[in-house]
Amino acid sequence: MTTLTFDSLNPATGAIVGSHPKHTADAVHEAVGRAEQAAAWWAALAPAERRTRLLDYKAVLTQHLRELAGLVQEETGKPAGDAALEIVLAVNHLDWAARNAAKVLGRRRVSTGMIGVNLAATLEYLPLGVVAVIGPWNYPVFTPMGSIAYALAAGNAIVFKPSELTPGVGVRLAELFKESVPEQPVFQTVTGLGETGAALAADPRVRKVAFTGSTATAKRVMAACAENLTPLVAECGGKDAFIVDADADLQAAADACLWGAMSNAGQTCAGVERVYVVDSVYETFMRELSERVTKVKAGEDYGPITMPGQVDIIKRHIDDATKSGRVVTGGPDSVRGAYVDPVIVEDVPEDSPSVREETFGPTITVRRTRDAQEALELANASAYGLGGTIFARDRRRATELARMMRTGMTAINSVISFAGVPALPFGGVGDSGFGRIHGADGLREFARPKAISRQRFALPGMNLTSFTRGPEELERLIRLVTFLHGRRKR
Ligand code: NDP
Repeated sequence: MTTLTFDSLNPATGAIVGSHPKHTADAVHEAVGRAEQAAAWWAALAPAERRTRLLDYKAVLTQHLRELAGLVQEETGKPAGDAALEIVLAVNHLDWAARNAAKVLGRRRVSTGMIGVNLAATLEYLPLGVVAVIGPWNYPVFTPMGSIAYALAAGNAIVFKPSELTPGVGVRLAELFKESVPEQPVFQTVTGLGETGAALAADPRVRKVAFTGSTATAKRVMAACAENLTPLVAECGGKDAFIVDADADLQAAADACLWGAMSNAGQTCAGVERVYVVDSVYETFMRELSERVTKVKAGEDYGPITMPGQVDIIKRHIDDATKSGRVVTGGPDSVRGAYVDPVIVEDVPEDSPSVREETFGPTITVRRTRDAQEALELANASAYGLGGTIFARDRRRATELARMMRTGMTAINSVISFAGVPALPFGGVGDSGFGRIHGADGLREFARPKAISRQRFALPGMNLTSFTRGPEELERLIRLVTFLHGRRKR
């Protein structure tokens, strides 16, 4: 039998990086079958043993950091330093997940309250079984590892379908895992195009799908999951806002804004796409920004657009923004094949596609606002709600604004810093998806809460769950509840 293959290409050169099988639905089902067995084995290991294996995998990844970064660079086109950075962050998450799983998920006693005084109650979080991870190409190590590390630490087996643009990285992540866990295929990678991912999401033995990618594909994956009532974590796109308040350190803000918007050629789900600057500091901030941007170049500070089709969307948004707004830097000529130089446009109407839709390129729109409140209102008027940034010196005011931002995460006086803190959950609201990876919430996302109540002794005269219950018992209960809960506070 011949297996069809597909090539992954270096977007900077067009050279073939590797050739990988297009796994058919049958091949995917076989992988899920193997994963079911492996899941039972992995779940049966003592938590301390899983922790040891995962910490060993962390060490293996670290030892292969340069090699893996080289592969990330080849498949995505990003600079070697950026590739290394995403692996460092992934390793840090793996470490946290391994070290914290038992504490977050392990069995604990919980209080039973007065009415359950004769009971003992325990809560623990048990593995789900097989978790399917479907990942994007923009951070082919960091992003899927946000699900893989936490799902493995929670005791699940993984079948991972990487993006067709970065299959080599996905294959290598699973190969390296085998060095730490050779006994069973606890972490497998299947490669292919969209159909391979679709077959995986539709397999009824998959107990959870962790999807990272566009909102449009998430809807298709959710429809496939609906067939089997398979739960889903959806980490989708964003249109993140960057707010500069009147008291902000403007040099730091301009520096962070540029990096947040342009690094990785803007191909960051929580990258900066919309900038709102309060009136009193607008000119100074724009001067800083436009001076700094002259030193940032595609092909030097960041790589090409990884996905060829994305260039058309970026072009459309640049055309739209430059027609309706005022160009600060760049314009339609900034698109040079797969490379796009930074584009900054101000005063683009808030209802235009370049302000509403995810661009996923090195472009930003900037708008002057009356005050931070107006900036926040505009920031929140988006269908997306992934991350965001506030630059302000007044810590209380900055925190207040951050809390009011309708997103899953907000960074203050830094960009995307939340992604590097393993204890913080990562995920969005609205079109940015639902569910969380990272942190304790990320561990619980891949586990089922198991609640157990055990009767320690019978309560004399209070057998409420019996047909022998008499009116006096109910009367006693009502008196107790009235004593406990019947007093109004005002
Ligand atoms: P896509 O939605 O195009 O693809 C995501 C993954 O889904 C790929 O592996 C893809 O495979 C697969 N896929 C495609 N069709 C199906 C299907 N019908 N069923 C199952 N799987 C399918 O996203 P991109 O790869 O282009 O990634 C960019 C998007 O990801 C952006 O919107 C970005 O904002 C978002 N993102 C979100 C993050 C977050 O954490 N919230 C982090 C990083 C990115 P194939 O590539 O083979 O088509």
